[in-house]
Amino acid sequence: MIGVLALQGDVREHLRMLEEVGVEALPVRRPVELAAVEGLIIPGGESTTMIRLAGIFGLIAPLRQRIAEGMPTFGTCAGMILLADRIEDGAAGQETLGGLDITVRRNAFGRQVDSFEEDLSLAGIAGPVHAIFIRAPWVESVGADVEVLARVSDGPAAGRIVAVRQGQLMATSFHPEVGGDARVHQLFVDLVRRARTQRRTDDETKRD
Ligand code: GLN
Repeated sequence: MIGVLALQGDVREHLRMLEEVGVEALPVRRPVELAAVEGLIIPGGESTTMIRLAGIFGLIAPLRQRIAEGMPTFGTCAGMILLADRIEDGAAGQETLGGLDITVRRNAFGRQVDSFEEDLSLAGIAGPVHAIFIRAPWVESVGADVEVLARVSDGPAAGRIVAVRQGQLMATSFHPEVGGDARVHQLFVDLVRRARTQRRTDDETKRD
């Protein structure tokens, strides 16, 4: 079962995508719901609102703990900001959950082009992925353990990093939940399944 953090943002679109790839999906608003899922998607929306609501709902500490324990987590757009260890151009004092060793620049593409679409290539997916950017962040810099999955291919922002993975954490600047292509969600589901197999192997080793 995979959860979608359901405090704000495009929760329904992610739930629909998970159902499309054949996974049981649960909106997560409370710590008990978080405890019931083995992977989590943090949707796009507004990162400042989402972190504030996470505080009100008592979710910040439990989320940080699950992420630190290796729960597979996928952040899209605002969700990428929430997973980043460092923010540029954040609101004053803006906190994150952290976990991903990246510096993210909020609203990075500027006002003129704050929403745009582009076909890009993404490591692990065959053929172009149609990416929709809405007041999106980009990844300014990454730590040594972070794998870059995609960069912008054209225009003034060409070369900017827009998809990353580090261990069980994955993030995209764009919105794979919009537009009906479930391949990026499938990639995340594969990661959740691999993490489950790994946990079982670890448990068996412990028992031996
Ligand atoms: N600009 C938003 C933020 O800072 C993110 C936009 C989005 O998720 N579409 O949270």
